[in-house]
Amino acid sequence: MPPGTTIDSVQWDSEFGFAHRIAKPLYADNICLAGDAAHIHSAFGARGMNLGIEDAYVFAALVAEDRLSDYESLRRPVIESVVKTVARATEIPRGKTMTARLVRRMPWLVSWMAPKAEGAVRTWVLGLDHEIGLE
Ligand SMILES: Cc1cc2nc3c(=O)[nH]c(=O)nc-3n(C[C@H](O)[C@H](O)[C@H](O)COP(=O)(O)OP(=O)(O)OC[C@H]3O[C@@H](n4cnc5c(N)ncnc54)[C@H](O)[C@@H]3O)c2cc1C
Repeated sequence: MPPGTTIDSVQWDSEFGFAHRIAKPLYADNICLAGDAAHIHSAFGARGMNLGIEDAYVFAALVAEDRLSDYESLRRPVIESVVKTVARATEIPRGKTMTARLVRRMPWLVSWMAPKAEGAVRTWVLGLDHEIGLE
């Protein structure tokens, strides 16, 4: 903002919240849920779109092999693991726990840890941290 800018009355505001949820079931009556319809979580970690694309890939492979009933057992563990990790990680910038507050007050700790964790973080963000279970 240019110097001297002041804020007048607020015209509109809203709360920003996160939901961490997984649909149940993911597969029923030959219908499979994929992408955000199947799982929703905070954007922390940039996993949402990748996870949805992976759902579609597994779905297509199972259709080709006439094994659609395996969709639930293949996708649920992967989705649960991602949503759980994202929910935990989201607590660091926004959480009220002692650990989250401590980390936020020590940005130098994050800078110090970042290079050491880079490989693991990259593997996780790219979704290369798990098998998708297709032979
Ligand atoms: C701020 C933000 C940042 C993100 N950053 C990343 C990132 O860096 N990396 C990453 O992997 N993911 C990221 N995501 C998540 C990613 O954008 C979503 O996970 C992904 O777009 C979901 O794709 P989708 O096709 O499942 O759903 P959507 O993209 O929501 O597509 C659903 C479509 O269905 C349409 N639709 C809805 N109802 C109907 C209806 N009744 N009839 C017809 N059409 C309908 C909608 O208009 C929409 O076009 C981010 C999300 C947000 C909000």
